[in-house]
Order: sequence, then structure tokens, then C-alpha cells
Amino acid sequence: MRLMDYHVHTIHSFDGRQTVEELCARMLALGADEVCLTEHIEPGHPEPGVDRPPVWDDWLANIARAWEAFPTLTLRVGIEIGDNPLLRKETQALLDSLPLDFRLLSLHMVGGVDCYDAAVYYRGKTRAEAYREYAAAKAESVCAWEDFDSVAHIGYVARYAPYQMEPSERPLQHRDAPEELDALLRHIVRLDKCLEINTSGYDSLGCPMPHPSIIRRYIELGGTCFTFGSDAHTTDRDLKDIRRGMEEVRALGGRWCCSFEQRRRKVWRL
Ligand SMILES: [Zn+2]
Ligand SMILES: [Zn+2]
Repeated sequence: MRLMDYHVHTIHSFDGRQTVEELCARMLALGADEVCLTEHIEPGHPEPGVDRPPVWDDWLANIARAWEAFPTLTLRVGIEIGDNPLLRKETQALLDSLPLDFRLLSLHMVGGVDCYDAAVYYRGKTRAEAYREYAAAKAESVCAWEDFDSVAHIGYVARYAPYQMEPSERPLQHRDAPEELDALLRHIVRLDKCLEINTSGYDSLGCPMPHPSIIRRYIELGGTCFTFGSDAHTTDRDLKDIRRGMEEVRALGGRWCCSFEQRRRKVWRL
């Protein structure tokens, strides 16, 4: 089993709080074999300071220095694409201009509002409405893309949901939006892309993102490939619950854990 974290942020992301060097040192100490940086891009995000991509030359130079300093860690170059339906052409052109190993397709904004902005996003919506609206937007987003490698944190909507509910009701589950989620999962399977298991969910939701019911459905529809990411922004969360996520997916019937080099996929037995 290869220990890999395919979703991490450094100070080159607007909200990252660890340097590339701190990340690499910590990952090596934790026994990681491979790490993929997935800095944010959030084109057209309405909140000030969020649509602030890495300074590309600085970022790439920093990565080159880390390759020298940490030769025993495989460090890959990726981007977490904050999809904005209004700016897809520009986003694609930017991605094409970068020497990326990995593209992680993500969605934080629904109808122009980030689910993170709980006071605005959930206002006037029931849990069912807010979750379904998110699932519909996530399905539209994923189905609009072909050139990506893995789909990030399905169920992001639940992380900041302000509703009074049983802890087991908090995560987005397959039954919350079966049609939308099936459309999304079928698209991933048809293109033979990966489903991300975002292990930050264990602390915030009590299960990975996506919820096991969605992972199970992906496998049922023929999905076999996964990436695993802690979504760490600080060293204390690097590699957090990655082993646990891998165990859980293996128990659900998942087969492959994937890594990427210059967009070429390698598969490792789970
Ligand atoms: Zn994200
Ligand atoms: Zn992230």
C-alpha cells in the first residue's frame, strides 16, 4: 500500500498556513511516500482575497527547491480547481499553461455563493433544499468537465450547514439527491476518472467526503479508482485520517488508489 496525500494546501494558497518545506518535513516524518500539492484557484470568487491564485513562478521555484531538499519524498504538482461555470474557458486555458501532474476538480460556489458563507447560502432553505441545490450544481459542474483527474469532496455543502440535526443526518447522502449524484458518478465512471476521498470529513462530519453511501454507489456503477486527500492547510492536519480512509474504501470494495505524473495515472492496490 502506497501512502499518499493528494489534497494539501501551502502558503501559496490564499488560506494555506504551512510552507512547502514544513509540509514536506512533516509528511516524511509521518511516513508518507508521495504528496501532491493542490493549491486553490477560485476564478471570479466574490469574496475579497479568495480569487488570489499562487504567484506561479514563485510556486514552481519553491517546488523545485523542495525536490532538492527532500529527495526521498515524491512531490507532485496539482491544482484544486474551484469551478466557476462562467469562467470555464479561461480556467482551462490557465490550467493548460501550467506544468501540472494532477487536476482536482472542485466546487465551492453554488449560484455564485460559497457554501462556506453559511449566513447567505442557507438562508431561507431547508436542509433538503440546500443539499439538493448543491448536488445539482456539483453534477452540472462535473458533467461540464472532461479534462480533470479526480473529483473533490462531494458533500462539501454539509460542512457548514447550520441546521439542528442528528450527527448522522449531517453528511450529504446518496438518498438526498439520487438522480443528481447518479448523473455525476456515471460521468466519472464513463471517463474513467477518480473519486476523491476527502478525509477532513472524519472530523467535521464523522465520515469521509463523500459519505459511504455515495462511495458504495460509485463502486456499484463500476467505479474503481480513488485518490485520497487530507485537505490539510496546516501541518497538524497533514496526512490526517488517510490510512483510515483507505481502510474504509477497501472494506467497501474499492480497488485502486491512484497517483499522477504529468497527468498520467498510476494505480496502486488498496
Ligand atoms: Zn475545497
Ligand atoms: Zn482544498
